[in-house]
Amino acid sequence: MTIRWYPGHMSKALEQISELVRKIDLIIEVLDARLPYSSSNHLLEQVRRNKPCIKVLNKNDIADPAATRAWVQHFQKNSGVRALPLVAKNIPEVKSLVKLCKQLVPHRGNPGYPIRTMVVGIPNVGKSTLINTLAGKSIAKVGDRPAVTMRPQQIPLNNGILIFDTPGLLWPAMDDQGGAYRLAASGAIGANALDYTNVGVFAAAYMMRRYPELLKERYKLAELPETPYEVVEAVGRCLGCIMSGGVVDVHRAAETFLRELRAGKAGRISFEEPGTPEDVEAELLRF
Ligand code: GDP
Repeated sequence: MTIRWYPGHMSKALEQISELVRKIDLIIEVLDARLPYSSSNHLLEQVRRNKPCIKVLNKNDIADPAATRAWVQHFQKNSGVRALPLVAKNIPEVKSLVKLCKQLVPHRGNPGYPIRTMVVGIPNVGKSTLINTLAGKSIAKVGDRPAVTMRPQQIPLNNGILIFDTPGLLWPAMDDQGGAYRLAASGAIGANALDYTNVGVFAAAYMMRRYPELLKERYKLAELPETPYEVVEAVGRCLGCIMSGGVVDVHRAAETFLRELRAGKAGRISFEEPGTPEDVEAELLRF
């Protein structure tokens, strides 16, 4: 399986971002807190021109808090980078983002002299939701499928921030096969791109390694079955995904299982392994 992003679109998007970076004071990069590595685009660093960057680790409500803490520390080792976990709809948390912007760009930050920023990120990480909360009203189109963000080019907010919209979204880093599966399991890329059953089995294998107790608890399993496929079957039995004749409908079980994981029904989980950001980077950069 390969997902194709058109090289022409990619270089255009990067070129546009690189141009905009000249005009702004600060970059707000939105990442999915459940998979900060796979939901980032590492080329952004190349066009950052040493401008301060806030990495918003969004969807913190459904991410594993320990993994998120480790990523925050990891990102903040880079000079000029701050990391802030939040929930894009949470007004007080988004206010703390505004405060951080003002700390990083202390010489600007009032309506006559706003902090010029742009919100970048791959589809579905929550950019529109964040912009709507920042603006205090609905200006950015929000959808639950990837790639539906459509916004005007400049958004003045009354809190001393001016958002330059990026016409080109970033595309995710899928340096390895696992990257695509992690993104699909989290819902960051369209489910149609990969077979549901395969992604479900991938997610089951991951959950068996990383969060076996959550799996047992949610799906009432005294012991975990031996294989990930059997886990999906067991989940299907628990959730009533049964076809006539009492056979588990594995495709539907995988789909329901993924929907549950993405909604945080089995608990707060992150989708990258092994445990530490350094390990994740070392592991994934090998590809
Ligand atoms: P964009 O494509 O980056 O603009 O992403 P959207 O703002 O359209 O959000 C994508 C999906 O993620 C939508 O279904 C949102 O409701 C959901 N979402 C956004 N922020 C959060 C968050 O902090 N927590 C959770 N659980 N879901 C979120």
